[in-house]
Amino acid sequence: MVIARVALNVPLDKLFDYEASDAQPDDIGCRAEVPFGRRHMVGVIVELASGTDLPSDKLRPIRRILRDTPPLPADWRALVLACSRYYQHPLGETLAVALPPALRRAEAVPKPNADPLFRITEAGTEARTRLRPGSLASRSLSFLVERGPVRASALKAALPKAAAALRHLSAKGLIETATPAASPAAAQAPVALPEQSAAVEAISGSLGRYQTFLLHGVTGSGKTEVYLVAIERALARASQALMLVPEIALTPQLENRVRTRFPGARIACLHSGMAEGARAGGFIAAANGELDIVLGTRLAVFTPLPRLGLIVVDEEQDPSFKQQDGIRYCARDVAVLRAQQAAVPIVLGSATPSLETFQHARSGRYRLLELPRRALAKSLPSVRCIDTRNAKLQEGLSEPLLAALESTLRRAEQSLIFLNRRGYAPVLACPACGWVSGCEHCSANMVLHLADRVLRCHHCGAQSGVPASCPTCGNQDIHPYGRGTQRVESALRERFPTARVLRVDRDSASTPGKSQALLESIHRGEVDVLVGTQILAKGHDFPRLTLVGVLNADASLHAVDFRAPERLFAQLMQVGGRSGRADLEGEVLIQTEHPDHPLYTALAGHDYHGFATAQLAERQQAGFPPFMFHAILRAEASQLARSLEFLQTAAALGGQLGQAAVTIYDPVPMRLTRRARVERAQLLVESPQRPRLQSFLRAWIAQIYAQRAPAGVRWSIDVDPHEF
Ligand SMILES: [Zn+2]
Ligand SMILES: [Zn+2]
Repeated sequence: MVIARVALNVPLDKLFDYEASDAQPDDIGCRAEVPFGRRHMVGVIVELASGTDLPSDKLRPIRRILRDTPPLPADWRALVLACSRYYQHPLGETLAVALPPALRRAEAVPKPNADPLFRITEAGTEARTRLRPGSLASRSLSFLVERGPVRASALKAALPKAAAALRHLSAKGLIETATPAASPAAAQAPVALPEQSAAVEAISGSLGRYQTFLLHGVTGSGKTEVYLVAIERALARASQALMLVPEIALTPQLENRVRTRFPGARIACLHSGMAEGARAGGFIAAANGELDIVLGTRLAVFTPLPRLGLIVVDEEQDPSFKQQDGIRYCARDVAVLRAQQAAVPIVLGSATPSLETFQHARSGRYRLLELPRRALAKSLPSVRCIDTRNAKLQEGLSEPLLAALESTLRRAEQSLIFLNRRGYAPVLACPACGWVSGCEHCSANMVLHLADRVLRCHHCGAQSGVPASCPTCGNQDIHPYGRGTQRVESALRERFPTARVLRVDRDSASTPGKSQALLESIHRGEVDVLVGTQILAKGHDFPRLTLVGVLNADASLHAVDFRAPERLFAQLMQVGGRSGRADLEGEVLIQTEHPDHPLYTALAGHDYHGFATAQLAERQQAGFPPFMFHAILRAEASQLARSLEFLQTAAALGGQLGQAAVTIYDPVPMRLTRRARVERAQLLVESPQRPRLQSFLRAWIAQIYAQRAPAGVRWSIDVDPHEF
């Protein structure tokens, strides 16, 4: 009897046995449709066995093995299994996260779109001289002449609307499809600076073996150029390259740049915002070895790549690499693990590396590559604090900042006011009785959104009208307190009536399309003053932006989370780096009540090393990561007492395990205790040694699964949590 052991997407930490008389060893890694209870599910065959512990009346036959897609390769399964173990999450659920949604179902997967390779024909070469110069047909043919055989997608990236030209040219016999070369070459583009080429040489010298590099480069230092040349070297060895970026919003820009740079390469861009069929198609093409470069967000780390030769993680410190529900993996850490398993180099790039990564570089575990200069712009922006302790503010804006805005406007350059709080005001309150606009589902305040005339909770999304008077005492004189992007926007419009003010935050850029449109209007120079949140801080180049004003940064200095200063420093470096990127000098003005704070001093000196070294010393002394390893068990229920009770029981189970060098803390309510009607609590476990923590977690979580949580209590485990 052949038994297939199948991993299913259910919250149980076990495999399920099915009778599979026709299963062959080649079917390991195949998806299979199986009966589960009264329904059918799709899982992955993890192993074949000749027997089972199930009684024969419980053993059911597999429904069918889905052989229309290739079996998931062994190295891919090993990676997913390692993640499942490390993050203490059931294998079946981990596999489901690693697979595109279309592959979690039994329906046939659509064939990936073909991306034919074209070359110019003799007739085309002759015709080129007769075509009107500058016409789409002529430019398309020139691109093919200059760049050799070119993918349809690369031509479309280089010349918008080229799709029609392609059809026309191939119908006339001026171009024809070509057979791909073994390794698609890129145009050799020399890097500008000696430190860039030193970085490229170091990385390409490691191709074929495992090494983690930290590429620390100030904003504008040309990190992307280093990635691209390193990728070119990997492709020249007929390898595949994987590049991870933090945001979907960043991928269209980068995708165009990569496609134009590698016009003959087969490239897929994978992220959660794309159509399911295209995502599954890209995944399968990658697994079949048909792709050269995979570009994507967090989830792309799980793309199967049989010829993987190089991994790049851009903005490695970015919080979006950490998944915040289900299996709480960090794609950067999974990428490092993957590089180790596949014996390939990995490059982690950042202007402000995470302290974990920087500590690895200091200790010699990672190799540090530095790009200390800007490649194109003249110099780094000057950073200055505006002391607001005794200043009179107008709608939160100080005189020196307003004056700087005014002179930037006069020079017809762009300014950016950065404020990490959207909405009009964070709370509406009654000075007479003390009423505040609290959310009835959360322990948080409803934010006033004047643009939509609503109060909105940023935690659960609840919405209500804006009351005309205090709901408690009837006082008509209720006020918005504090300020968000909408309020600053309207203050700026009032102060500079002729200036074109544009707000960019999650409300105004709610879809990729809207955000693209906003960015385009900034690039066309249709904006004088930008008001925005961290959305604006990332990756975008605005050539005429010369002034950045920072409001309300002090809030993060006093935050409880020990990671808050690290995040603030990274954010301000990033947003400051937006200014003065072309041939114009940039200036960053930070409004603060703590102008002498070491964080601001380090920022003014562009001194990442000084900041990171001081932070690491503090962390070491306080016993925080990266010198300590954390895991958090969280629970939620309709009543706080039930969440706490579950955690108490779990803590007692953990205590009985008696693992040395592991500390289990008392359960506490979470800071935002109530969210969307559930009350949340958490319990911290720590150890100065990762292996000890891991072996404790394995035993402990197995027991928690075995005990079964009481009805109505949901729990999750977060290994290496990023937030408290
Ligand atoms: Zn009142
Ligand atoms: Zn709420």
